[in-house]
Amino acid sequence: MFLEQYPMLADIAEASEDELTEAIEPLGFHNIRAEALKRIVLTHDCLPSNPESLMKLPRGGQYVANATLCFARGDRLPVLDRNVERVYSRVFRNTWPETKADQMTFTQRLVPDEARAYNLALLDFGALVCQDEPLCEQCFANEYCVYFQDSVRRE
Ligand code: SF4
Repeated sequence: MFLEQYPMLADIAEASEDELTEAIEPLGFHNIRAEALKRIVLTHDCLPSNPESLMKLPRGGQYVANATLCFARGDRLPVLDRNVERVYSRVFRNTWPETKADQMTFTQRLVPDEARAYNLALLDFGALVCQDEPLCEQCFANEYCVYFQDSVRRE
């Protein structure tokens, strides 16, 4: 829908922030992202294709860089939002690294060749199953999850 509405960067550049806010809202983004998107298209002819430049974009960062490269090109990179971090930190409870850099290294080796499908599934899984109040009894991974196994042992 968004791509049908704004097929070219020039189409985004011509849109008002209010229009962009309305268009990205169904994607789960808010007006702060619309403002950043507008700033990016007004200052770039095309999106950068390397992580360092993507991280420097307005509202950029490791998450934005990895998500862009994975979902746009299929690059084998971890995409760690708050929900996905929660999933990993529970499943690998005893070995989950503390620093962001170590978490990226840790998760990089887990991402399969089908990185796009894997990361999309993890984002949904973190948002819908392994929530703040996790649905462990219904979870396909509870046999392997240290968080769940620890809670079972405590009962
Ligand atoms: S068993 Fe529970 S804590 Fe572990 S991954 Fe599944 S939902 Fe999350």
